Parts: sequence; C-alpha cells; structure tokens
Amino acid sequence: KASLLEVDGLSIDYGLKGISSRAIDGVSFALRAGEAVGLVGESGSGKTTTAMAIAGLLSPNARVSSGEVRYRGNRLPIDDDAAMRPHRWTETSVVFQGAMNALNPVHRIVKQIAEPCMLKLGMSRGEATGRARELLELVGIPADRGAAYPHELSGGMRQRVMIAMALACRPSIVIGDEPTTALDVITQAQILKLLGELRSQLNLALILITHDLSVVAECCDRVMIMYAGRIVEDGAVSEIFAKPKHPYTRLLIDAIPNPANGKKMIRPIPGDPPNLLTRPSGCVFHPRCPSAIGICATEVPSLEKCGQGRVACHLHRSSQQDRVSVHA
Ligand code: SF4
Repeated sequence: KASLLEVDGLSIDYGLKGISSRAIDGVSFALRAGEAVGLVGESGSGKTTTAMAIAGLLSPNARVSSGEVRYRGNRLPIDDDAAMRPHRWTETSVVFQGAMNALNPVHRIVKQIAEPCMLKLGMSRGEATGRARELLELVGIPADRGAAYPHELSGGMRQRVMIAMALACRPSIVIGDEPTTALDVITQAQILKLLGELRSQLNLALILITHDLSVVAECCDRVMIMYAGRIVEDGAVSEIFAKPKHPYTRLLIDAIPNPANGKKMIRPIPGDPPNLLTRPSGCVFHPRCPSAIGICATEVPSLEKCGQGRVACHLHRSSQQDRVSVHA
C-alpha cells in the first residue's frame, strides 16, 4: 500500500545570530493512511521540527538543507510558507498544547470552529456554523455549548475544541503536539481515547509528539524515538515496550513511573540532554550511553532495519552481521 507521507533524508538547520545549528539530521520515515505514530524524545530531539516541517509550520529562521517531504507522492514546498498554504490545515493539521493560549478569548467557540470552514472550504457562515456544531458533537461537546467562551470551559473541553478545529477542514493527517501535557491524568486519558476513536472513525493518520512514552502506549501503533535530531529507533509499540533495542529507548522505558513496583517518580536519564551546538562525535548518545563500546565515540551508527523495525546502534549492527554470517 502506498504511503500517504514520506519524509526522505530531511535535514533542517536553524540560524540564530549568525550561528547555524542542525535541528534534524537525515530523518527518513513513511506514514500510511490511518496509521498512528508516536514521535518521542526530550526537548532538542527534533521531534517538533520534524512535525512542523510536515505541517508547513516551520519558523522563518529554519532552513531545509537536504531531503524532502512527499505527500501523496508529490513533493511539498515545506520551506515556502505561501506555497504551503493550500496544504496547511486542509491536508495536515495540528492540535497544540495549552488550548487557552491558542483560542481567542473574546469569541464564542462555535465561531472559532466555523472560521476555518469559511476561510479554507469556502462555506457560507450558515453552513460553517452547522459544520462547527457537528464537529462539537463529534468531539463529545453538546452543540449548544458552542455559545460558550473559552474561559467558561474546563481544560479538557478546551482541548476538545482544539481537536474540533484541527478536524474542521477534513485533513488526512493530524499532528498532536503534546496535546495532553497540561491536563490531569484522567482528562489526559479521555483526550487520548477521543483521538484514538476519531482516528478510526475518520481514517486519520495521527502523529503524536510527546516526551512521555506512556502516552504513546495509549493510542499509537508505532513509535519513533528521536535523539539529537535523529531517529534512533522505530518499531511497533508492543515490540518496543517488550524488547527495546536502542539503549536510549531502554532508559526511556525504565524512566516510566510504575506504581505496581513502587516506582512513583519519573527517573531522569543520567547526563545532559544533547546540545545541538556541541554535538558529540560518533554516536551522539555515547556520552550518556551505559552500553557504549570503542567505536561509538568515532563512528555514527546509521539507522538500519532490525527485525520488523529500525535501530541506529553499533551493538545491533554487529549482532545482525553475526547472524548474517552464521546463515551465509
Ligand atoms: Fe550506545 Fe554505542 Fe549504541 Fe550509541 S551506538 S547507543 S553509544 S551502544
């Protein structure tokens, strides 16, 4: 089955005060229609840059230095803000975190949902209001609540409004940018359940950006782990949780609180998160890696197929080569 989206060798740099730093480096992956993928990493891992490139929302100081993004087989002009306008929100949309800041406090929510339908789909005000009411019901808000202002709604309800807005122009891909970060645990679970339901109902492809691997377990089929601008592991959620291959993935899973064994706090991963200006040589994770070997400080491990997924780690490369030679 053809991919809906292909990211191919994408590298993006940010320029700031004459200094350029690489935010993502040779990122490649494909996304099928209806697939739900988690993009997981610490801040500075490149997950947000990757997602914003796909959505056509790169900041003005971002520069695409190599690679491309294809949507339904066509190259997207991701570094041209105006040329991306027809794609933005109608093909790929984003649910941002912190709905209070993203919503306009002086407009009723039904109006805010109707707006993109008028602007992007060319609907009349009456048609757009009708669609906004349908969208409210779709995200679990009674249509009559559409007369409310954002401050009259709970945090979870506001996040549902954000989801309704993201769905307004019938996109094929919805990106959730830490969509549940500001919410309590119960509301978070409800929003994730809603995203999962909408995804199957509307055959949406979902890209969920998060620093929290446990969020991914709730509603994704597949997860890609990013570190310092690169994908370091990519595979099915069930497989990655049961048998993480990359040492960084293993540490992320160990860091998840597990009340069953008395582990209540998130255990931080030792060492400093990557600094994009002083990128370590070889495997960028080597200064923090508990399994590092000699070659790790000098040679960059490439992302290679491993079982059903992909992993970028010298340990797995050599084990695969051994296996190949045994069977040769
Ligand atoms: Fe650790 Fe080496 Fe694998 Fe990097 S390549 S994750 S340093 S073992």
